[in-house]
Amino acid sequence: MSTTPTASGPSVRSTVHGYPRIGPRRELKRAIESYWKGATTARELDDVAAGLRRDAYTRLREAGVDDIPSNTFSYYDHVLDTAVMFDLVPSRLPSPARAEERDERLRRYFALARGVQGAPPLEMTKWFDTNYHYLVPELSPSTRPRLVDDKPVAEFREALDAGFRTRPVLLGPLTFLLSAKVADDAPEGWEPIELLDQLLDAYVRLLADLAAAGATEVQLDEPILATDEGRAAVGYLERSYKRLGEAEERPSLLVSTYFGSIGPAALRVLKESRVEAVGLDLVTDGEGFEDLAAVSGLGSTRLVAGVVDGRNVWRTDLSSAIGRLGTLLALTDELSVSTSCSLLHVPIDLDAETSLAPELREALAFAVQKAGEVALLGRILSEGEAVDTGASTPRNPAFTDARVRARLDALGPDAYERPEDRGGPDRVTLATTTIGSFPQTSELRRSRAAHRRGELSTEEYHRILRAEIDRVIALQEDIGLDVLVHGEPERNDMVQYFAERLEGYATTENGWVQSYGTRCVRPPILFGDVSRPEPMTVEWITYAQSRTEKPVKGMLTGPVTMLAWSFVRTDQPLAETARQVGLALRDEVADLERAGIRHIQVDEAALRELLPLREERREEYLDWAVASFRLATSGVAPSTTIHTHMCYSEFNRIVGGIEALDADVTSVEAARSRMELVEALGRRGYKRGIGPGVYDIHSPRVPSVEEIEASLRLAVSHVEAANLWVNPDCGLKTRGYAEAEQALRNMVEAARRVRTDL
Ligand code: GLN
Ligand code: ZN
Repeated sequence: MSTTPTASGPSVRSTVHGYPRIGPRRELKRAIESYWKGATTARELDDVAAGLRRDAYTRLREAGVDDIPSNTFSYYDHVLDTAVMFDLVPSRLPSPARAEERDERLRRYFALARGVQGAPPLEMTKWFDTNYHYLVPELSPSTRPRLVDDKPVAEFREALDAGFRTRPVLLGPLTFLLSAKVADDAPEGWEPIELLDQLLDAYVRLLADLAAAGATEVQLDEPILATDEGRAAVGYLERSYKRLGEAEERPSLLVSTYFGSIGPAALRVLKESRVEAVGLDLVTDGEGFEDLAAVSGLGSTRLVAGVVDGRNVWRTDLSSAIGRLGTLLALTDELSVSTSCSLLHVPIDLDAETSLAPELREALAFAVQKAGEVALLGRILSEGEAVDTGASTPRNPAFTDARVRARLDALGPDAYERPEDRGGPDRVTLATTTIGSFPQTSELRRSRAAHRRGELSTEEYHRILRAEIDRVIALQEDIGLDVLVHGEPERNDMVQYFAERLEGYATTENGWVQSYGTRCVRPPILFGDVSRPEPMTVEWITYAQSRTEKPVKGMLTGPVTMLAWSFVRTDQPLAETARQVGLALRDEVADLERAGIRHIQVDEAALRELLPLREERREEYLDWAVASFRLATSGVAPSTTIHTHMCYSEFNRIVGGIEALDADVTSVEAARSRMELVEALGRRGYKRGIGPGVYDIHSPRVPSVEEIEASLRLAVSHVEAANLWVNPDCGLKTRGYAEAEQALRNMVEAARRVRTDL
């Protein structure tokens, strides 16, 4: 199908909200890590960074994008950059902006992200519902916002010198303050938002500097408006943009919102403010259009319409996008076509992939291709350029598997239920176990890499894996743990390992996305109906079981986590896709059980992460998340013990979810939150097993027996000891053997002591 050229069309521009920083070959990661090791100088690092910035602007211009953003680059994280720029750093670490030397500045900057001896770094947490992590600013009445750094100005000037008049991107004041935490020294009841007026003064100064440098437009990101918390803060929103709008020397302002719609109240505030442009996410939920209708359009405020999905990898259906943009033209005088959010969350270039199936590749667009899409849409709308828009529309029938659909349709409600009373095997009181992985030694990683490159035969690689399992089993027997694990030595990653073995999933060679700092991940692509051609883990678990009389726990990644850490198809509801993954896992669970495995753990590390940003959507989410888990786990005999594991402790949000999953044992993080979850479950009369993590594996510190014992005694005071399991709070993959072994010995001894006193 092709569009007919319109006569003299309106002037429609194109832009993107941001661009990946890591470089097409993860150049930034290599440059930073080499600087950390002392192998290169600050100067060399800065040169690599400048080259990457210039390349990004060039790629965007070549793609045809009209308005190019800058200051989307960061050495670690843009929230950290904002804190540093306004001198909002905790007193335990020196402020980078106050150092004279470039080298010292950088050293201090990275210290905030990574800590130094005696001074822990800023905490890290998820950026909204993405898999990007930001550093959480710590604010208190004694942190005073002042503009002390000129990064956005310097990057604007640098781009201008290279021939690009960019639009500097700043994190907005509201999102910054609402994403910060209260520092320990703040008085009870104090909130970071109390710094708003001072912070706005600093923004006003920054806007003046940018205007003086020649910037004509600045972007302020306010994704917080997509959350309930942000929506409730319209008063502060109004105050912020009234102040910034009234600033005398300033570029024009684009307030950009994303990760969901913002509701009519916030939109009205922005429309009535002096802000010149508003960016809306018109992809994530359908409500952006309703919001626009509710405020009768934006009038003379420019609409930056996020119609190209900035955080998933599918090509845009251009004819449908043109239709939607046409509707928007009636609601605003000026329009820009954009991505729904920064392209930070997608890989850079599809052309770097050489082995994707052609019918899949045709359906994909990475950052470079998405930039091309917004540019093309802009041209179609303003110049009436005629294009063939048909190619991306229909789903490829090759992605559909009738057998999977028929099997799912045939399932009755009993496929999601286990009997209420499961009796179960004789249980050890305060049974000790671990979460699954044991330390991944560098030898193991080297062997895996060599095997992938074809330099190590599969036979030899498997021999190495079996030897590792022997060692892990022997170690656990020696330590005296009750339920053993095989240690997961065969897994590169808890999602990718399964994605490589399931139909309907593809993995990429170079599809890297920043997770935090220099850590990048390569999320697999779930493109079609999912099924399991053959067992995925049975060989390894049964091998481990053959080496011991003690029970070995099988280890799988649950449906929600498989979705959360992948790029997922959008042509059907997530609920349906999750059910398919649940069914494939159900087959694996059945095979494990048939092979004699009596404990099976299905990890849902990301259950909390996919939780919708707004309360009103959470129930529906939990319904399907729970259903897919139960589909995976309900096929087993009553005597088989189903475990699950989750990586967080915000108990108020997950307590209902834990009950609904109906696992026999749930292990969670708890060491740092003083067993609050256990207390909450105890109060609710929870009768299944709970394994509160009794020590924090995220630190190399070995906890003492007494410390673990104290945690356990606290847990025993909340729930019956017969329902309590004893385990660390996450997998041991990132630890060394020496510390892991000592910590587990202490844990087993602590359990023994508490047991004797019961
Ligand atoms: N079983 C996994 C492991 O032990 C769980 C990892 C996780 O929860 N992130 O590594
Ligand atoms: Zn975990």
